[in-house]
Amino acid sequence: MKQERTTDLATKVARLTEELRKANEYIDTLESQLSPATVVQEKRVRCLETGKVIYTSNSDANHGSRAGAKGMRMRAYQCDKCYGWHLTSSTNGK
Ligand SMILES: [Zn+2]
Repeated sequence: MKQERTTDLATKVARLTEELRKANEYIDTLESQLSPATVVQEKRVRCLETGKVIYTSNSDANHGSRAGAKGMRMRAYQCDKCYGWHLTSSTNGK
């Protein structure tokens, strides 16, 4: 009887190991499907507080401002909510 239970356990472990292997394979597949476009989109995550695009640095934000609408002066500032950089249009002042 004890022998049978051990065999049962061994079968269970083997099955779980197989499930785990399949799960890892699935994760690998998902990771390989991440296209460069997806990565780019991830870099442009929006701030939950302001809803603005998050830039990783001041220079990154300034680069984004040049890509924006012409004639619109954009100023980069660091957000105290997400600690990323956002652009704000400076309509008043210089
Ligand atoms: Zn923010």
